[in-house]
Amino acid sequence: MQVKQRLADPAARTSLRAWLEREAPRDVPTDLARRFDIVRDWQRRLYDAGWLGLGWPEEYGGAGGAILDQLVFNEELVRSKAPHPAGTIGLEIVGPTIVSYGTEVQKQRLVKPMLRGDEIWCQGFSEPNAGSDLGSLQTRAEPVPGGFKVNGRKTWTSWAQYAQWCALLARTDPSVPKHKGISYLLVEMDSPGVEVFPLVQMTGDAEFGEVAFQDVFVPEENVLGPLNGGWHVAMNTLAHERGPYAVRRQLEISVAMEDLRQLVQHLVATGRLRPDALLQQRIGRCRALVQMLEQHSQEVISAMLSGEPGEESSIDKLLLIEVEQSVFALAFDLLGAMRGIREEDPRLDASRWTHEYLYSRAASIYGGSAEIQRGIVGQRVLGLPRA
Ligand SMILES: Cc1cc2nc3c(=O)[nH]c(=O)nc-3n(C[C@H](O)[C@H](O)[C@H](O)COP(=O)(O)OP(=O)(O)OC[C@H]3O[C@@H](n4cnc5c(N)ncnc54)[C@H](O)[C@@H]3O)c2cc1C
Repeated sequence: MQVKQRLADPAARTSLRAWLEREAPRDVPTDLARRFDIVRDWQRRLYDAGWLGLGWPEEYGGAGGAILDQLVFNEELVRSKAPHPAGTIGLEIVGPTIVSYGTEVQKQRLVKPMLRGDEIWCQGFSEPNAGSDLGSLQTRAEPVPGGFKVNGRKTWTSWAQYAQWCALLARTDPSVPKHKGISYLLVEMDSPGVEVFPLVQMTGDAEFGEVAFQDVFVPEENVLGPLNGGWHVAMNTLAHERGPYAVRRQLEISVAMEDLRQLVQHLVATGRLRPDALLQQRIGRCRALVQMLEQHSQEVISAMLSGEPGEESSIDKLLLIEVEQSVFALAFDLLGAMRGIREEDPRLDASRWTHEYLYSRAASIYGGSAEIQRGIVGQRVLGLPRA
């Protein structure tokens, strides 16, 4: 079936741009506690206006159209500097996996509230003793009549305290090799026995937390994909975290780089900064890196349009880490020169750069650390020996 593309027409893109200009919330606080309700409400308005479900199947509450529509939408959203909607984990990471592996009943029940932000999702993969070596996870799901009883502890679970659902990896068969006995469970966060302990990051936000599961009942119809086949399903989720997420983040970094360029011009013009050779070199390097990332993103998009994201999404992630950390480290080093600048021009808000810099340090950890991505590239992309 030919999928009709909705935003291919430049007039449609123009109307989206005008809508965003008119409707997007402005001056949204950077701290999560004050931000959350605003971005959740924003998600509902985007969905109700028909923009958010682009590229998602209509029969499950999506707006139809092609994946390219979703990419165009993301591009316009970022370029308009509108905030990102609240339900990132659902929209970008877990949701596409549910569409690929879910039963008809699961998709009918879960996709629309996820898109509209009525139900926020979190991802319960990492554990205190299983991060990079995810296959060693110890959370157990034992069979009981009608489902499973879950016991264990997850950590670094982003948005857990806001979430209604958790995509949980648990061991359902401890007697087989470790990757073969894992299942992917969809768990309601208000189930008796689930407890969330928020953890504060160096940005000051409690974006993630620990989640304890004590005798939590999960009905058997909430297994996503095959029982004991959860490892394969989880790899699909992680590939989305590395590929499509990387495309969106690339756009955000391109916009940030342009803002930084204008900021440096302003600092130089107002005598706050001397444009010495070292500064010029750093800016030149950052711009070159951003351009390289933009080029690379085009390849990622082509891969996405032609099918499932593959092992090469690890390369996207590595490149993104390098660019993101370089750009925001440069901004951070210029903070001294930015003193008093907000009073002069409220658009040049220095606090944004502190937050971006601190958050950029996490980029080489979440979604699989940089070292692990290099290992994947070495072994699975380049075919190098494991040692
Ligand atoms: C901001 C943020 C949000 C997150 N959100 C979530 C979430 O929502 N859900 C979720 O499940 N997880 C989440 N995580 C967890 C993240 O996926 C893990 O932190 C990551 O996989 C690394 O695991 P770890 O912290 O246990 O470190 P470890 O695995 O203990 O690694 C410690 C160090 O050793 C290195 N190392 C480990 N093994 C190897 C190896 N084989 N070769 C080379 N070096 C190695 C690592 O690179 C790292 O530097 C989040 C993390 C962050 C920072």
